[in-house]
Amino acid sequence: MQSRFFSSIFTVFSILGYTSLVAVPIYLAGRVLSLWGNYLPFTPVIVIIQGILSALILQADFTRYSPGANDNAAAVGMVLACARYYKNQPLKNTEIILLASGCEEVGCYGIRRYLDQYRAEVKEARFIDYELIGRGLPTVTVREGLLFKQKCDEELAEIANDACRQTGIPMRRNESQVYGEGYVINKQGFAGITLTADPEGKPDVYWHTPRDTMDKLDKATLEMMFNWTKNILEEIDRGAV
Ligand SMILES: [Zn+2]
Repeated sequence: MQSRFFSSIFTVFSILGYTSLVAVPIYLAGRVLSLWGNYLPFTPVIVIIQGILSALILQADFTRYSPGANDNAAAVGMVLACARYYKNQPLKNTEIILLASGCEEVGCYGIRRYLDQYRAEVKEARFIDYELIGRGLPTVTVREGLLFKQKCDEELAEIANDACRQTGIPMRRNESQVYGEGYVINKQGFAGITLTADPEGKPDVYWHTPRDTMDKLDKATLEMMFNWTKNILEEIDRGAV
């Protein structure tokens, strides 16, 4: 299955990365000791790349983790808010499935596994993904991905656009240089959009750092995101008759 395939590739790269931490110094030492001096012009380049890779891996593992308020506890809160709201007033024609899939940062394992397992059951589903929704203005990520870009579902983006207008705030569209669940969902042929809050004009440093704390979340933004979500769901529900 496609997602298993990508997961395996990621695993292979991780193993290669960690192996190189050990193997490259041994290799370089071997070259120096065996006096293959002719090849040594490449040595400084290899050493520098190796040093950077090692520093990245060690820095990530041995420094303080991000508290993860905006990325992505805010989204978990939104899922819980939806659960509380729709538990007592379900939509007329639409079933809502709430999913906190996790493991996005390391390769979207959560959503990949979910789609693998429930592919048939959710093939008609429309997916709404939340990413960094705690500060800023309502935005749909229309294209995402690092090397290969993936477009979001255009019909859903239009629904989101109308739904946002109803809140009185115009919707923005952005592109993401990284990939998240929205990428995987659309890549695998499902319909999905990623809702985010674009902190235009505000400092955008409160994610993936120790500064991503709860006090940085903006209550008004979260309320707006919730109202936007309700409008989207109601619009989908009207169309589902
Ligand atoms: Zn993140």
